[in-house]
Amino acid sequence: MNNFQFKNPTKILFGKGQIENLATEIPENAKVLMLFGGGSIKTNGVYEQVSKALSKFDIIEFGGIPANPEYEVLMEALDIIKAENITFLLAVGGGSVIDGTKFLSSAALYEGEEPWDILSKNKRTLEGMPFGTVLTLPATGSEMNSGAVITRAETKEKFAMGGPGLFPVFSILDPQVVASIPERQIANGLADAFTHVLEQYMTYSVDAKLQDRLAESILQTLIEVAPAILKDPSDYKAASNFMWSCTMALNGLIQQGVPSDWAIHMMGHELTALYGIDHARTLAIIAESHYTFNLDSKKDKLAQYAERVWNITEGKKEEKALAGIKLTTAFFHSLGIKTTLSEYTKDYKGTAQIISKRFEERGWKGIGEHGKVTPSDVEKIVEMSY
Ligand code: NAP
Ligand code: FE
Repeated sequence: MNNFQFKNPTKILFGKGQIENLATEIPENAKVLMLFGGGSIKTNGVYEQVSKALSKFDIIEFGGIPANPEYEVLMEALDIIKAENITFLLAVGGGSVIDGTKFLSSAALYEGEEPWDILSKNKRTLEGMPFGTVLTLPATGSEMNSGAVITRAETKEKFAMGGPGLFPVFSILDPQVVASIPERQIANGLADAFTHVLEQYMTYSVDAKLQDRLAESILQTLIEVAPAILKDPSDYKAASNFMWSCTMALNGLIQQGVPSDWAIHMMGHELTALYGIDHARTLAIIAESHYTFNLDSKKDKLAQYAERVWNITEGKKEEKALAGIKLTTAFFHSLGIKTTLSEYTKDYKGTAQIISKRFEERGWKGIGEHGKVTPSDVEKIVEMSY
């Protein structure tokens, strides 16, 4: 196992009715900016619950953060934070609203001239404006981690940011919110969380037995609850297992002491930036090609995954590894998610060259757990996913 230091300061309030406890988690004298998305919270009762819980606070609202939180929209919220002397941010939404709030948390205290530099120059945030979240969509794990991904529509770019200053102070996870989530977003949540685990697991062994088994147990739980939650999102038992699995998939725990990959996310982000494809679906497009292309270096883990997660007992190591790849694609299909780029856009030709050129220009010379997936490899992987 590799050395590590681990601290996750986010307080979780999990379960039915937890939104009622919101007021006790926010500092008494805070001037709060509440951030939300396109309006789902106004029709599913979450907005009312939050407003009731916060009736004693001085609150300003900012709605309209789009899926794939957009820089220019967030800059409008930043103006409000400055003009109104906001001291606390409250994200009420899915990964997009939470990530947008993280950007604002960082930008609010940023001393440089151009907040875009936080993203384009990859500046780590050591201190941000404090914020909490009310999660409405299990998927990203953003509610208990310190990362965010922000899009700039103007330049068709999507960049990650992060740093120890960007953990939420608290996150409220009430699985009842899952009842109103459309099927497409439930499928996305399952696929995103599944891929988060894969990116931290499908590397090379450092004999970290517990991390491996934790990762495998999250994958198995997602596979087990997927049919139930897709059939009936108001199934509380399935919703609570789905929600906690998504948080555990990316709250830092399973990545301690082990290598991680993240190449699927890096390529996937480009597909969202270029074509607006849902984040989770971009991962489903890239995964099979990435694992097939890197079969040699990932064979041991792929075979272990096939054995332990999918109960594949027959065949040699390579056969098991290949079966694991195929079963992953079949899992995405079982969620109703298409796994080739040409099923999402007619303009797919040339995508591989555009992405590899972007990686080259950014100096991303080698990605993946070995730092050896070159821009030219990226070109081949993306081409395989057409
Ligand atoms: P999302 O973009 O936050 O939300 C997708 C859609 O679901 C929105 O249209 C939203 O509608 C709707 N929705 C949310 N909660 C709902 C509910 N309870 N009932 C009905 N509709 C609901 O989706 P997401 O998958 O959570 O976030 C995706 C973003 O997170 C991407 O930008 C991705 O790159 C990023 N991401 C971040 C991390 C991280 O660690 N920070 C990891 C992976 C991905 P409204 O807008 O109307 O609310
Ligand atoms: Fe993701």
